[in-house]
Formats: sequence, structure tokens, C-alpha cells
Amino acid sequence: MRGSELRGGEPTDEPGTGELRAQLDSYLTGQEDRLIAFRRDIHMHPELGYAEHRTTARIAEELTAAGLSPVPLPKGTGLICEVGCGDGPVVALRADIDALPLADEKDVPYHSTVPGVAHACGHDVHTTIMLGVARFFAQQAEAGQVPGRVRLIFQPAEENPGGALDVMAAGGIAGVDRIFALHCDPRVEVGQVGLRAGPITAACDKVNVRVTGPGGHTARPHLTADLVYALAKIVTELPAALSRRVDPRSSLSLVWGQIAAGSVANAIPDDGVAQGTVRCLDDEAWHSAPDLMKALLDSVATAYDVKAELDYVRGVPPTVNEKTSVDMFRAAVVSVLGDDGVTGTPQSLGGEDFGWYLESIPGALARLGVAAPGMAGAYDLHRGTFDVDEHCIAIGVRVMVATALTALWESRRAGATEPVGEPA
Ligand SMILES: [Zn+2]
Ligand SMILES: [Zn+2]
Repeated sequence: MRGSELRGGEPTDEPGTGELRAQLDSYLTGQEDRLIAFRRDIHMHPELGYAEHRTTARIAEELTAAGLSPVPLPKGTGLICEVGCGDGPVVALRADIDALPLADEKDVPYHSTVPGVAHACGHDVHTTIMLGVARFFAQQAEAGQVPGRVRLIFQPAEENPGGALDVMAAGGIAGVDRIFALHCDPRVEVGQVGLRAGPITAACDKVNVRVTGPGGHTARPHLTADLVYALAKIVTELPAALSRRVDPRSSLSLVWGQIAAGSVANAIPDDGVAQGTVRCLDDEAWHSAPDLMKALLDSVATAYDVKAELDYVRGVPPTVNEKTSVDMFRAAVVSVLGDDGVTGTPQSLGGEDFGWYLESIPGALARLGVAAPGMAGAYDLHRGTFDVDEHCIAIGVRVMVATALTALWESRRAGATEPVGEPA
């Protein structure tokens, strides 16, 4: 992976907060309008996961114009671009670039031009912030002002999901010390960033249980497998047993959404199904869930002499923020936004495929306030009416630049200047 050329060596002293703020102020004075225009262009041309061809081309065009060398991912959408100086520590920043299959209901000039597709999760904003960060570091690298390398990951298909796994398969986080990401949060006002150490989003998997056995007349349940009774036992016993076999702090919960068996009052059917979701905030519990559920299912099914099959469909792991990375986010936010820039954020039971990266390397996801003043909570993600206060773009650039620098300087201080592995 090539980045900008090294010119003028690496900096030896960490710049003070005032110096970084001044650099960002002068950079954003010239860039903010341009970034907003880019966001609106992407917003008007939303593309679904793995179909982000125009979006990828637009990002590549802008990065190339900034003197950088983006590398497309093997499946053709999404790209990775490294910028910085020397062989020092590597910090990755990730933006997702895909849109959602729902109609844009907003009455704005930059309304989606694609029927049934909209940037309703703010990934256009994440993408634009990363572009702003890329251009800033491209300028800084020219002057030898980056204390290491910043890898910018423009990830496809977060909503599908699968994009994070593709990035990892392509070597996208090889050699990376830490990874950071922002996600728009309409419950938080622009100018604030929500932070949380530990789990911030949940795992969400699907389970499908199919039960079979010899049916028959309801007068003679002892001569059949009483399948409806057995299925009802499975549906009530499994969540109850799980709650006693898994640490309650993992918040692992199995909730059924559908159950079906039989057709008439006096016949025991020979098959039935139950479907539900498993949500979980703890990585270890998430990994153990399929085997545990299979064992519990088998024990209940055996007791009632029915056959049970489990189809366990993995979603994404929980995103578990590493504390040191959250501390870096906090220091960075305070340095560019002041103490009032930091706020807490609740655990969400929603899923986010950023969790895949954090299974391999430390990092953190933060919530970027995007609500206009006084409008916190007025809009929600994944709704056709979702929009942001575009001042959040410049704020996001400030926060991500400062976070990357904080992590790079921290790595240098810790002596972690040896490359961990060969980047792709
Ligand atoms: Zn989303
Ligand atoms: Zn999202």
C-alpha cells in the first residue's frame, strides 16, 4: 500500500493544542464549503452495499487530486489510502460508504436522486469527514508533520453487512496499532461527541429452530412425539436456561419473533418452527452462544423425544470499545472542542460491523453529534427524514485528525514504532 511520499522526515515534537487548533482552523476555512458540497453530491447519489461504484470513484478522484494513492478493494467498491511519514506507528480511521434501501423523504435541494435509496444512516457524512482528514494529512505530510502513518479505510457494505470482513481479508488492518471510527448520532447536538468504554453496539444473530417427530391423534400423545408441547417447552426453556448459563453482564438475550406448528385441534403435527434473534453485548458470550444453544436445544428435545435442528445465522459481533482508545478519543475531543465537547452515550442494542475490527485490534467507535441546536432526538437513523446539521462535518474532521495524532504520538511514546506487520 503506497501513501504520500515522505518529504522532510518526521516531526520530533508533539505540537501544542493551540498549534493544532490553529492549523485546523486555517485548513477548514478553505475546505468546509468544499466538503459540504462533496457530502451533498454523495447524498444525492446514494448506493447500496457492494454497489458503491460512483461513490468509490468520486472518493478516489478527490484523494488522487490531493496527491494520494488510493488502493481499491478487490470487490471493486471501497478503498484504502495511506498518508503520513516514515515507518512509524500506523493508526487506521474507518468510514463506511453505503446507503440504505429506503426512500428519501426530505424536502431539500440535495434530496436523493435514486428512488428507494437514501443515505439515512449518515455514511455520506462519515465518508466526507474522512476525505477532509485525508486532505489535511496530505498537506501535513508534505511538510513532514505527521508522526507516523494514517490509514484511511473507506469501507463498503456496512449495512449488508460484510464490508469489514472484506477490508480485513484484503489486509486492510495488517500492521495497524489502533483503529477509530465515528458514527452520526441524531440524539446528540452538533459540537459534542458521545464516548463509552466497553460495549457500545450489540451483536445480533438470527436463530431458526425446526422440530420434527412422528405426529398423530391428540387422543394418543404417548404413541407420538407430542411436537407442539415439545416446541412450546423449547421456546420457553431455551431463553430461561440461557439466562442461567451465561454471565448476566453479557446481556445475552434470545427473543422469539415467530412460532408455527400444526393446523387443526385434534392432530399432533410432525413438524414445527420457531425463529428469533440473539442480542449480546459481550464478545466472549457471543462466541460461545451457538454451541451453548445447540446443547440446550438437544437436551430439551431429547426429553420429549423430538428431533430439533438449529440454524444459527451469525450477524455482527458486539462493538467493544477499548478503554485506552476511548481515553485517546476523549483527549482529542477536549483538545479541539474543549471539555464541553465530550458527553456520555448509552449502549445500543443495534449492530455495527466495526465490531469485526475490534476482535483483532484495539480501537473505539464514537458518536458524533449531528443534531442542530435544540433538535436533539428530532430525527432518527434509518428513517427517510434523517438529516444532519452540516457543521458536524468540520467538527468530525477536527476530532478525527486530533484522535489520529493523539494515537500516533502515544504509540511513539510507548516505543511501538516497529511496524507490526506488512501492510497489504
Ligand atoms: Zn445503519
Ligand atoms: Zn451506520
